[in-house]
Amino acid sequence: MRILKGNPVSRGVALGKVYIYKAFKADVHESYFEAGKEEEFFKKYQDAVKTAEKELDNIVTSMSESSPEKATIFAAHIEILMDEEGQEGVKEMSFDSHTMPDYAVDEIYTSFAGLLEKAKDPLIAARAADLRDVRNRVLRILKGEKESNLSSLRDNVIVVAHDLLPSDTATMDRNRVLGIITEVGGATSHTAIIARSYKIPALLGVTDATEIMANGDSVILDALAGQVLLDPEKETIKEYQEKLVEYIKEERETSQYLDKIPLVASGERYSIGLNIGSIDPDENFKYVDFVGLFRTEFVYMGSEHMPTEQEQFDAYRRVLANALGNPVTLRTLDIGGDKTLRYMVLPKEDNPFLGNRALRLCLDHIDMFKTQLRAALRASAFGPMQIMFPMVGTMDDIRAAKAVVEEVKQDLRLKGIAFDEKIMIGIMIEIPSIGIIADLAAKEVDFASVGTNDLTQYLHAVDRMNPAITSYYQSMSPSMFRILGRIFAEFNKAGKPISVCGELAGDHLGALVMFGQGLRKFSMNAANISRVKRTLSLFTLEEAENIAKKVQNMDTEADVLAYLKAEVDKRI
Ligand code: PEP
Ligand code: MG
Repeated sequence: MRILKGNPVSRGVALGKVYIYKAFKADVHESYFEAGKEEEFFKKYQDAVKTAEKELDNIVTSMSESSPEKATIFAAHIEILMDEEGQEGVKEMSFDSHTMPDYAVDEIYTSFAGLLEKAKDPLIAARAADLRDVRNRVLRILKGEKESNLSSLRDNVIVVAHDLLPSDTATMDRNRVLGIITEVGGATSHTAIIARSYKIPALLGVTDATEIMANGDSVILDALAGQVLLDPEKETIKEYQEKLVEYIKEERETSQYLDKIPLVASGERYSIGLNIGSIDPDENFKYVDFVGLFRTEFVYMGSEHMPTEQEQFDAYRRVLANALGNPVTLRTLDIGGDKTLRYMVLPKEDNPFLGNRALRLCLDHIDMFKTQLRAALRASAFGPMQIMFPMVGTMDDIRAAKAVVEEVKQDLRLKGIAFDEKIMIGIMIEIPSIGIIADLAAKEVDFASVGTNDLTQYLHAVDRMNPAITSYYQSMSPSMFRILGRIFAEFNKAGKPISVCGELAGDHLGALVMFGQGLRKFSMNAANISRVKRTLSLFTLEEAENIAKKVQNMDTEADVLAYLKAEVDKRI
């Protein structure tokens, strides 16, 4: 069983067979016809436009009742198709330079789409997809190919594609599509919006998904944890079938907690943070108090080249502008291990998770690190932000990273470039060696956030990506809770903010124990917010404290889980 990670943009769980969807791919070359055939070739274009208009009319008519919202997308496509400027452009290219219709169409629409993509407003930029969609329709008709879409599927499938165009998702047979996985796309892409409106679980940004998976492969799409499990074993399937039933039931009950103020039964307030990997607006910003983890590596992974300072600055500013005033915790680049950059070839390591990863790699590539810090610091002048380093193992690491920040700050000061002089600098606690000296670390940093995903991996010496040893990967073991309790106590004693941004914060049982241990800041994927709020609302502070004490003295993770489940079940 192999696990692929992605960005869960529409919550849910799906089990099923893969259907690789490859939309029509235009293969256009620069080409010209002989002079004198202008009328003939321009007519080919005009005929293609007529056919495209007919196809779009049919879609609009068939959708206007069932889904008027989607019908408007196609009505907009008709407008794009019939746009005079576009048509004139093709005409000019035909008559003035004898350009073949497919090449002319490609040139005109691609240049318009390119202009839109540059727009600062992400909603306008996303409209470039509509232009490309119309271009593809006309090119397909010019090629004489029939429309291929997801509207006539024979089986229930999990659709896997590089990307889905608005027309693919809107005409999709939603009763047959159990889930969507794409290689690209953000939270406000059409695919994400439509998947959410259909309540189809969707995971975007799964690198090389169409190459790794094949038609008919059995997969589990877990758009709660943000992963796809390939070729799962019977036991895992069974576990997920149960998870699915539980999810549907819970979903119904918990959704009403989403916009509630996070309070425990005795009235104490805690904060909910959001973990993000994209720079797009997210409706969930309004349900949280902070962004506890902005994984900046996704900005790097989504680029074809090492992002420049300006590109990063723009991206970080955009996050701040979209975050509705929530303070954003920008985590510096965390690659290595399972996360790689296509354009940055690194020496192969025998144990990449124990290797030159994250902060270590940044300290080793100091120019790359400084570029990111400059971009982040410059962006900090535009909204509340704090900077956090991943994979810190020693006090030396903290001091080395802080020294680089100081150097970059000094350079900005000398150049008169604005940044937040009071910006808080913190660390992730995800290597046990730093957790154990949390008292010392707390003196050296402004805040910390615990990465329980890696902390579990390093505490238990179990590769978090290796499916053969998942039973050893125990985020809720008594040893985990002991080290967590110690970290929270030391930071609380020092009066320094402490949060958790690993998956355990979004696990309602884990969150309950950690609340009892003194944690008040929980940062998680949006999918988990309502459930955590509901469970915590069922317990008083005293009850949670007693529970926390108990689990730290239990023998096994299984005991902890059984006990916590029983405690929650009693109250539901
Ligand atoms: C973690 O390790 O818990 C964490 C939040 O970081 P990542 O999952 O990105 O390694
Ligand atoms: Mg980590």
